[in-house]
Amino acid sequence: MNKFIDNKILSGDKNQFTLLAGHCQICSRLYFPTLLNCSVCETDLKEYKLPKKGTIWSWTTQHFQPKNPPYDDKQGIESFQPFCLGIIDLNNELRITAKLIDVTTEDIYINMPVELVQLPFKSFRNGNDVTTFAFQPIKK
Ligand SMILES: [Zn+2]
Repeated sequence: MNKFIDNKILSGDKNQFTLLAGHCQICSRLYFPTLLNCSVCETDLKEYKLPKKGTIWSWTTQHFQPKNPPYDDKQGIESFQPFCLGIIDLNNELRITAKLIDVTTEDIYINMPVELVQLPFKSFRNGNDVTTFAFQPIKK
């Protein structure tokens, strides 16, 4: 069985999925991940599906093992591999931070078109797989 790492962040199934944000109906602010209510006007937030495509606004390389997620603590520091971390501009609506996959530091550029993909996070002995998200360059 496949589960998302957090149903407040990801919605859908293996084929059709989206990132979820919180949208304030009063002041139009978006929050990712969502909050209980708007931090500006305290209005309850409505679920909002974020665009699945965006562009790289900025990026860096993560050279140390972060907390989990996106890294599974049990993998150990010996197996850690540096990875690219991007700030993704989603249609000028919101910028979010996400792991970048299938790209090298030599290939990344500002405004590179990227799309949302599912990323295996952890597998359990009982057969449950947990999935998180990343962005990858849009293949031509
Ligand atoms: Zn608000």
